Amino acid sequence: MECRSGCGACCIAPSINVPIPGMPEGKPAGVACVQLDDAGLCRLFGDPSRPEVCAAFSAEQSVCGENRQQALENLIELEQLTS
Ligand code: SF4
Ligand code: SF4
Repeated sequence: MECRSGCGACCIAPSINVPIPGMPEGKPAGVACVQLDDAGLCRLFGDPSRPEVCAAFSAEQSVCGENRQQALENLIELEQLTS
């Protein structure tokens, strides 16, 4: 599926355990990444400093669901299963 532009759920719900510019310790689960802009887009898109883990994640129906709320719920559940 195509990523829903402006959703941003995968930049909020999961923890990220590698440094992000502006978040040197990475990001806790449920906290919006500092690189997520007000339009729900990544400020580092296309920039080499964007974490690899972000570039590796692509939209998938089973995770992203039909809307942002479903994506947040699925990602929180995944986070709990994998932490
Ligand atoms: S959760 Fe899915 S649809 Fe939402 S921004 Fe991330 S990849 Fe795109
Ligand atoms: S660096 Fe960009 S893609 Fe990665 S979590 Fe932050 S806003 Fe999202």
